[in-house]
Amino acid sequence: MANGVEEGEEQVRALAGVRAKIHAAELEFGRKPGSTTLIAVSKTYDGTAIGPVIEAGQHVFGENRVQEAQAKWPALRKSFAGMKPCLELHLIGPLQSNKAADAVALFDVIQTVDREKIAAELAREMKQQKRFLPVYVQVNTGLEAQKAGVAPAETVAFVARCRAVHGLDVEGLMCIPPAGQNPGPHFALLRKLAREAGAEKLSMGMSGDYETAIQFGATSVRVGSAIFGAR
Ligand SMILES: *Cc1c(COP(=O)(O)O)cnc(C)c1O
Repeated sequence: MANGVEEGEEQVRALAGVRAKIHAAELEFGRKPGSTTLIAVSKTYDGTAIGPVIEAGQHVFGENRVQEAQAKWPALRKSFAGMKPCLELHLIGPLQSNKAADAVALFDVIQTVDREKIAAELAREMKQQKRFLPVYVQVNTGLEAQKAGVAPAETVAFVARCRAVHGLDVEGLMCIPPAGQNPGPHFALLRKLAREAGAEKLSMGMSGDYETAIQFGATSVRVGSAIFGAR
């Protein structure tokens, strides 16, 4: 490259830094080392930025748009076919029901189930494609009008319906706390709801607050800009 920096070199260094901080937070907060999965959020970045991060050993990625992910991940999967562990792609953005088929075909985990219609569509597509993916229910812990997610008070019943009515494998809950608020109480709320709903996993924490999320029991953190750079 013109500036003499290897493609992806900065991202690979940043990845190592984030991994070190996750490890330190696990130790600090009495979590089992290795109990937090790092989901590298690669939205807006293309294959040339993502490839070196995969080569550096990162295998779990998050994307927030179905179409954008469709444009880059099939080629990346092909390039890294046979890699162990396999690449694992999580949908972390809102899902429209007309994209459910594409989402089931492309992703390995859907983290953003937040209404009956999407639960039904996903269940139908999974049967159709015989691809039974684990899902998370997104919770709008801050009850923000512009944000997706079920209300905290409806979460336990919604998870139960996803399982009983739609046969979905709800393995966890996911949240995005309101910007500018202390995220701790939101993470604590998500943890409490997951316990009540009998869901094991907690997807919470982003570049600005993933260490706090680990303190509150996150089993996966979704980190984008701290690895890939500003968007
Ligand atoms: C973009 C995004 C992230 C990552 O955000 P950063 O602040 O860049 O780490 C995490 N979760 C969701 C749902 C996102 O859309």
